[in-house]
Amino acid sequence: LSFSSCGLPLKLLQNVEAAGYDVPTPVQMQAIPAALVGKSLLVSADTGSGKTASFLVPIVSHCANSRLKSCKNQKNPLAMVLTPTRELSIQVEEQAKLLGKGLPFKTALVVGGDSMAGQLHRIQQGVELIVGTPGRLIDLLIKHNIELDDVAIFALDEVDCMLQRGFQDQVMQIFRALSQPQVLMYSATISKDIETMASSMAKNVMFISV
Ligand code: AMP
Repeated sequence: LSFSSCGLPLKLLQNVEAAGYDVPTPVQMQAIPAALVGKSLLVSADTGSGKTASFLVPIVSHCANSRLKSCKNQKNPLAMVLTPTRELSIQVEEQAKLLGKGLPFKTALVVGGDSMAGQLHRIQQGVELIVGTPGRLIDLLIKHNIELDDVAIFALDEVDCMLQRGFQDQVMQIFRALSQPQVLMYSATISKDIETMASSMAKNVMFISV
């Protein structure tokens, strides 16, 4: 498998090449084709495996394709990524911006420490992807009416770490605000709790281990 055989939008393929990703990593080889055809995934992968791009490439592809094809609801978010920390969210958003360069792909970062008004304003202007931490996202969703019906991909990075931080209820609450999205779950270790969480969010979850 190569990136060019995945049927990605041309601009995304160029961005992948410009980032220096010549050959997909093992987790990317398994996760990207499955995610592109709409499967929900539970992926066991460590930092350094290329896991971030393995969910961002399908996300950027989905967002670019749906914005280019459709003219309705041009402003609602189409994908969401949750991470356990502000720092990780910042890194994920940076990588997303690189991969989405030149495409209809705007991002909003929703983490503590920055002004919530600014984050809300950015979302209201219209973004394709929201990246954030569960605590701040819940705050935002409780206080403001954000239209999440078009969020088709829900990615959760470092789920083990999210559970350690006690975010499980908040993650599930955010999930319930969405309309049966495709779920892409990533964790270094896979516990029974994580398996249960995955199967409560999606049917026929495909398990990938690298
Ligand atoms: P991650 O596991 O997502 O933290 O990624 C680790 C590092 O690998 C990041 O700096 C990525 O930019 C880089 N990376 C991701 N995919 C590839 C690839 N296919 N080839 C080379 N580097 C990559």
